[in-house]
Amino acid sequence: MSLFAAVEMAPRDPILGLTEAFNADTRQNKVNLGVGVYYNEEGRIPLLRAVVEAEKARLAAQAPRGYLPIEGIGAYDAAVQRLLFGSESALITEGRVVTAQALGGTGALRVGGDLLKRLLPDAAVAISNPSWENHRALFESAGFPVQQYRYYNAETHGIDRSGMLEDLRNLPPRSIIILHACCHNPTGVDLNADDWQQIIEVLKEREHVPFVDIAYQGFGDGIEQDALAARLFAQSGMSFLVSSSFSKSFSLYGERVGALSLVTQSRDESARVLSQLKRVIRTNYSNPPTHGATIVASVLNSTELRGLWEAELGEMRDRIRMMRQAMVEQLATKGARRDFTFVALQRGMFSYSGLNVEQVERLRVDHGVYAISTGRICAAALNSRNIGHVTDAIVQVLEQW
Ligand code: PLP
Repeated sequence: MSLFAAVEMAPRDPILGLTEAFNADTRQNKVNLGVGVYYNEEGRIPLLRAVVEAEKARLAAQAPRGYLPIEGIGAYDAAVQRLLFGSESALITEGRVVTAQALGGTGALRVGGDLLKRLLPDAAVAISNPSWENHRALFESAGFPVQQYRYYNAETHGIDRSGMLEDLRNLPPRSIIILHACCHNPTGVDLNADDWQQIIEVLKEREHVPFVDIAYQGFGDGIEQDALAARLFAQSGMSFLVSSSFSKSFSLYGERVGALSLVTQSRDESARVLSQLKRVIRTNYSNPPTHGATIVASVLNSTELRGLWEAELGEMRDRIRMMRQAMVEQLATKGARRDFTFVALQRGMFSYSGLNVEQVERLRVDHGVYAISTGRICAAALNSRNIGHVTDAIVQVLEQW
C-alpha cells in the first residue's frame, strides 16, 4: 500500500480559498478586500524606492552568497533592536537584547515558540479573541495548548478592557501571552498606553511571559509611536519576547524578512539564551537567507535611504487613513443604515467592519466585493477607483437587514 494512501486532505486555508474564488469571478468591478497585503492606489503591491536603491547597490557589489551566521546579519539584528527599543535604549547598551534574523514574523513566532517549549514545557499559550488565525496554529504546532483572552467588544467596536484583564489574571501563572503591539489583526482595534500599563501590571503579578508580535510597525501612528508596547515592556523590567516583521513595512512579503528579539536580565543571560536560540535555528533551517535582510539593513543603516523609506512608509500609512476616512464619509453620505465612524478610529491595514457572515456573502454574491466571513476587510486594498463600488455595495446590502 502506498505510504500516502490514507492521508486525508487538510482543511483549505479560508483566505486562499477566497482569493481563488475572486480570481475566477469574471465581473469587471470585483474587489478583493480579503487580502492581507498593502496595495497602492493603482491596486498593486508597491516596490519601495528605498528597496530598489539598496538592490542596485547590492547588485553592483556582486557580493558572494556564503552562509550567514545562524542568528543572521549582525547589522540587521542591531537595526531591528534600535527600531523596536529606540536608538538610545539602555537594554541595548546593557547587552540585554538577543536578536536573530528570522523567516518573516511567522518564522520568528515559530522559533520563539520552539525555544519556549524547551524552557516552559507545561505552559499554556493565550492569544486574543479574535487573533491572526496562524497564531493558534503556530503555537499548537509548537506543542502548546492555546487559549483565548477576551479582547474585542463587538458592540462598542472597541476593547473589552475588563474582560481582557480578568482573563489574563485567571490564566495559570507563567502562561505565555501573545500580544499584538499595534494594528491588531483582524480587528484594527489597538490598546492605548494606559491599557498597556494595566496589562503589564497583571502580567508581572502572574509572572506571565509576554510575547509581543509587531508585524505592522509604522502602519498605525508612526514608527516610534507603534513601538510603544515594546518600549513599555522594556521599561517594566520583565523578560519578554518580540517577533517583528518587515513584510509589510518594506513591502518585502516574499523575501521573508523578520526577527525574533528576546529581552533578558543581563549580558550573561543573553549569551546563554543566544546559544540555545542558535540550536533551535540550526536544527530547523540552519541559517537565514541573505537577500531581504541585506536590503533592509542597508536601508536602515543609511541616512539617505532611511529617510526615503520613512517617507514611503508614511505615504502607505496616510493612504490607508485616507481610505478609512473616505469609506466613513461615503457610507454616511449614501445613507448607510449604520454609523461606520469606528472604521476611521481603527489602525493599520485591517478593519472589523461589523458585517456578519450573511452580509459578507451578499457582498460577494451580489456585488463581487470579497471580504473574510468574520467581516474583516483590508482597508489597504481600497483605492479611489474601487471605493465607490464598495460603499454602494455595503449600503445596498444593509438595506436588506
Ligand atoms: N503577525 C501578525 C499579527 C500578522 O498579521 C502577520 C501577517 O499577516 C504575521 C505575524 C506574519 O508576517 P510575515 O509575513 O512576516 O510572516
